[in-house]
Amino acid sequence: MPTLLVCSATDDLHTLTARLAAEALIHLPDLQVKLWPEPFNAKDVVAVAAWHPPANLLGTLPRLKLIASISAGTEHIQRCADLPPAVPITRIVDDEQARGMAEYTLWAALYYHRGFDQMLAQQARGQWRVPAQTPARDFQVGVLGMGLMGRQTALCLRDFGFTVSGWSRTPHTLDNIAAYSGETGLTNFLQALDMVVCLLPLTAATRGLCDRQFFNRMKPGAAFINAGRGEHVVIADLVSALAQDQLRGAVLDVFETEPLASGDTLWRHPKILITPHMASTASEGTIARQITDNMIRLLCGQPVQHGIDRCLGY
Ligand code: NAP
Repeated sequence: MPTLLVCSATDDLHTLTARLAAEALIHLPDLQVKLWPEPFNAKDVVAVAAWHPPANLLGTLPRLKLIASISAGTEHIQRCADLPPAVPITRIVDDEQARGMAEYTLWAALYYHRGFDQMLAQQARGQWRVPAQTPARDFQVGVLGMGLMGRQTALCLRDFGFTVSGWSRTPHTLDNIAAYSGETGLTNFLQALDMVVCLLPLTAATRGLCDRQFFNRMKPGAAFINAGRGEHVVIADLVSALAQDQLRGAVLDVFETEPLASGDTLWRHPKILITPHMASTASEGTIARQITDNMIRLLCGQPVQHGIDRCLGY
């Protein structure tokens, strides 16, 4: 019996597996849904739905035809040592999730634009000082990555009244959003921004992008938000940019190792605000529906949707 194997070496996927099983019962009654590490027949597995796949699993599945990431990113799958070369990798593409990301970034933009970081510092000192108020259009926000997340975020910030620009591999034309691309475009993009938000996928080209040189190219006193992946940022360089007041503050949602260890000094950094990889998630219902839809396509011999380009890494 064809099997969809749900797996993660790190997270509990019982409820997602139940959702997938319920979808399969309606649309694909001949599909078996199993949750690793319960027993399964490796020869029956035609698809894997994965967060962090366990080591030495993917290479043991001779009939594997689809690897479905249960998130918007796929780098955790692409880094598997035994990743079969020709099997398509898909990701979740969810407008609701992009709206959630826009909300998260709008909150961060308002936090810095209206100086709530300074208000919290003043409160700690028992200090009453009214800051100067400026219009949102005077606060310039730059979005790194203009894909599903970045585009929705840029549009939301623009519609709120912020001055917005976007940086991507290829330029994107959107009304009243300045477009930058490539390495040369990055310097021009960074220099005037009051806040930069990273919404890039993690690839060989974007890993470690936000390093000392990057922060030095930013306008002194700007804020930095990372909701892409932890490995985009060289944390030591971020901390030193904050110490030198090159950066005003940072909001970090993602980390190289998650969960962030409770003893990590970042938790207590006065200029860093930490959120636990919650900027935006797709609902389990959406994840289950999109993966089931691709299972239907797969079993009918049709091409799957939301596949990534392995050469580009996203
Ligand atoms: P996407 O639709 O694939 O968009 C990726 C964007 O990044 C594209 O605009 C792409 O440029 C740009 N890009 C890729 N490589 C680049 C490079 N080397 N230089 C410049 N730009 C580059 O991805 P998405 O759905 O927006 O998601 C992006 C990432 O956000 C995910 O991979 C995930 O890591 C993260 N994420 C985090 C959360 C959270 O809760 N923290 C939630 C969802 C997603 P082109 O347009 O030119 O191709």
